[in-house]
Amino acid sequence: MTERKPPPADRSHAFETRAVHAGAAPDPTTGARNVPIYQTTSYVFDDVDHAASLFNLQDFGYVYTRLGNPTVSALEERVASLEGGRGAVAAASGHAAQLLAFFSLMEPGDEFIASRSLYGGSITQFMHSFRRFGWKVNFVDPADPEAFRAAINARTKAIFIEVLANPGGIVVDIEPIAAIAHEAGVLLMVDNTMASPWLFRPFEWGADIVIHSTTKFLSGHGTSMGGVVIESGRFDWNRSAERYPGLTKPDPAYHGLTFAETFGDFGYTMKTRAVALRDLGPTMAPMNAFMTLTGIETLHLRMERHSANALKVAQFLEQHPAVARVSYVGLPSSPYHALARKYLPRGYGSVFTVSLKGGFQAGVRVVEGVDLLSHLANIGDTRSLVIHPASTTHRQLTEEQQVRAGAGPDVLRLSIGIENADDIILDLDRALTRA
Ligand SMILES: *Cc1c(COP(=O)(O)O)cnc(C)c1O
Repeated sequence: MTERKPPPADRSHAFETRAVHAGAAPDPTTGARNVPIYQTTSYVFDDVDHAASLFNLQDFGYVYTRLGNPTVSALEERVASLEGGRGAVAAASGHAAQLLAFFSLMEPGDEFIASRSLYGGSITQFMHSFRRFGWKVNFVDPADPEAFRAAINARTKAIFIEVLANPGGIVVDIEPIAAIAHEAGVLLMVDNTMASPWLFRPFEWGADIVIHSTTKFLSGHGTSMGGVVIESGRFDWNRSAERYPGLTKPDPAYHGLTFAETFGDFGYTMKTRAVALRDLGPTMAPMNAFMTLTGIETLHLRMERHSANALKVAQFLEQHPAVARVSYVGLPSSPYHALARKYLPRGYGSVFTVSLKGGFQAGVRVVEGVDLLSHLANIGDTRSLVIHPASTTHRQLTEEQQVRAGAGPDVLRLSIGIENADDIILDLDRALTRA
């Protein structure tokens, strides 16, 4: 939201170059090469007219850090560039990004359709807390695109999927789902946290909005919470004007501004910032934006090593006598391997699950028996991580929901780091043998 010098990395540069440069340029006043942490809440106006034009959204600039901050803007531009989107809004966490993303679309009584194969926290957020806003979620089986079509009605505002889904080793076939959404004039929202834009770019396959928990691979080192909402700029709001009055009709929450008309291909981003972020307030801290910008500079290198290590560990585990099944989409034994090869040609990510022959008890013993791997609730760290979802992340779900989400009682979720693969394998082998 500012008039900075054009960043040195324009969209014609390759991904790796944009990962390092997009959104950032040497600081014009100090020459600082890295993006400074603008640790300020507010910004001095030139005069009263300048202040008024900023408040009216007639001019782009900084007012108050709840709405925008130069460090956070650099991150927003970098992520929008890597995803190939038009604009982005950062948030304090992935869940905050989801809240903002839906708040810009939904009125009480509205509905959306979500894949059943999602991060456990998203299922809980959608089912329970979103309901208190009067928003209704319909969960469907993502392996059946027609189930999405059947669930669409006049109040449906979005379809929400994860293409590489957490934690179950599932790849959702996005192409037919995007076609069904667009035929009905409904937008498709994709949570791309698990793949990161290096492995998969949803806008190239028909997504209209992408959200991330930047807490995971984008920040990448287990240091900083964050989320981001990115708009493709290609959704035709006016074709679905009746479905999206919040974008296509004058908005009483912003003195009668019509966001899609005034801002065109970044109207949704403006509404998300000027109404959702303004009124709900889950702003990303400048320090976390800085940490995430730094993390993204090595995203492509980390994702390559994460994927290569995960494949080695998955191949090892598949042969292990204590293991019943490995759900890694990179293995030819995965029912999703063909889809993974189509959508994820650069690698299959670092997160997958294993089912242990010894059931719940063996799962508990392995998470307590590892030394190098850390037993904790996160993914996408440089370190290798392990968790037993049924007793932790997926605890709030019924056993049936756990099994459907690929997180039954006998399942462990691994997030393979960028250490030496042999060391990771040795640690797991010891813990499995002891269990
Ligand atoms: C972690 C995660 C989220 C939630 O993000 P937070 O940053 O923890 O709020 C959403 N979706 C996926 C796929 C995740 O892994």
